[in-house]
Amino acid sequence: MTNDVQQKHQKKMAKLKEVVDNRIAEAQQERGVLIALKGNGKGKSSSAFGTMARALGHQQKCGVVQFIKGRIETGEQLFFGNLPGVDFHVMGTGFTWETQNREQDIAAAESAWEIAEKMLQDPSYQLLVFDELTYLFKYKYLDVNRVVSALQARPAHMNVIITGRTLAREIAEIADTISIVQDEKHAFRAGVKAQPGIEW
Ligand code: ATP
Ligand code: MG
Repeated sequence: MTNDVQQKHQKKMAKLKEVVDNRIAEAQQERGVLIALKGNGKGKSSSAFGTMARALGHQQKCGVVQFIKGRIETGEQLFFGNLPGVDFHVMGTGFTWETQNREQDIAAAESAWEIAEKMLQDPSYQLLVFDELTYLFKYKYLDVNRVVSALQARPAHMNVIITGRTLAREIAEIADTISIVQDEKHAFRAGVKAQPGIEW
């Protein structure tokens, strides 16, 4: 690089550093955040559990409620569920697409949400993951306003991550961070069979 180019580059970088430093100085609030991970792509639950690994590295107590309809024991349950710093709950069996029993599904959603609600009231948790929570609103299995109230009343330090393909407007309004995981390609469509360690 010539001296001139080098000088220009240095000037540009100094300016950029100033902007970034100012932004860092402005972000002074210390509080928990509500993170929502939505979209049709693959990576929502795995991102939430990646963040949980990060929190556990800092000895933070974590809680999980998976509002899933499957019966397979997932790798995340087998791994995180056995750690002393994690309370791991999976919504009761009986909630499956095969049952087609709305009453039963609502009851399962209700009791899973009661566990989540208790966690939201317990200040000993630093991070909560509510995996696949969002579709419960879509099917009206759970009242979104009740969930919003519980989220808003949680202790100020508590971080919460919510995942699901769709996100209710009411939750989006109170979320601090929302990321959309977009589907560009998925191996499944090329005929690759779902596999442990990747899919569950
Ligand atoms: P992951 O748990 O892998 O992070 P996710 O939480 O983003 O995925 P979900 O909607 O919960 O996605 O679906 C979980 C399962 O569905 C995973 O097995 C994943 O590979 C698969 N999956 C996710 N997105 C797609 C897609 N666009 N097409 C096909 N299968 C998908
Ligand atoms: Mg998921």
